[in-house]
Amino acid sequence: MSEFIRKHKFLIARRFTQIGIMFLYVSANIWGWKILVGNLSSSKLFEMIPLSDPFATLQIFFAGGLIVFDLLLGALFIILFYAFIGGRGFCSFICPINIITDLANYLRRIFAFDKVGHKLWLSRDVRYYLIALTLIISFIFGVGAFEFISPISMLHRGIIFGMGFGWALVLSIFLFDLFVVKNGWCGHLCPLGGFFSLISQYSFIRVKYNKKKCSECMDCINICPEREVLHMITKKSEYVIDKECILCGRCIEVCNDDALSFNIRDFLKDK
Ligand code: SF4
Ligand code: SF4
Repeated sequence: MSEFIRKHKFLIARRFTQIGIMFLYVSANIWGWKILVGNLSSSKLFEMIPLSDPFATLQIFFAGGLIVFDLLLGALFIILFYAFIGGRGFCSFICPINIITDLANYLRRIFAFDKVGHKLWLSRDVRYYLIALTLIISFIFGVGAFEFISPISMLHRGIIFGMGFGWALVLSIFLFDLFVVKNGWCGHLCPLGGFFSLISQYSFIRVKYNKKKCSECMDCINICPEREVLHMITKKSEYVIDKECILCGRCIEVCNDDALSFNIRDFLKDK
């Protein structure tokens, strides 16, 4: 049991924060607890500290909506946290869709879907084009384009206030990831994940690779949802500095050689 916990400590921590945060939002709605009130787009911590999704705020700006001071301040807090500390940790520690896509990825591995059938190739840069498209559509139609159809908001609001048609979209993402493209949604399409990649590219917390300890089993590459970020494996000791790393820690957990660890980035050694 303790070995299981040791090999899944980050996964357990991630599920704990993902479910815990949803619980706090739900408890505010049902029992009136005032710890975390609102939803992932805009909320208040202890009725004092505003927290806003900066991508949603940007969409409101492009749509010509009113950006009130609290919204702006909340977006600034989130940007500062992920830009300097949290990296793309929103995706692995907060976003509820990550639980769905991780499940699809797990089933894909168990049933070896990668080894059968036709493989559809999709560029991992599509998410960055979708950010631009989202802002253009927001500007033209005067609504937050991604917020309007976001499965993240739908799932999150659905859990807090009750689910409508959002289930169909969430199910589509699950099936897309399971049968069509590995890590299809989070690793290729989601503009919010792409946005967090862009703002967190210089964050301090990073995975560090030690080549001297590595036996080149490739378990880390096989488990990583953004496998391209581990391009240095077998080549040289280095930090994972690519912005797409979601800091999930799965590579560290599966490594039996202790060759990977969380570390504070050394900017002087970066290329
Ligand atoms: S990529 Fe998008 S859906 Fe996936 S975990 Fe990140 S924000 Fe959530
Ligand atoms: S490099 Fe490691 S921490 Fe980063 S996304 Fe891949 S498995 Fe997760």
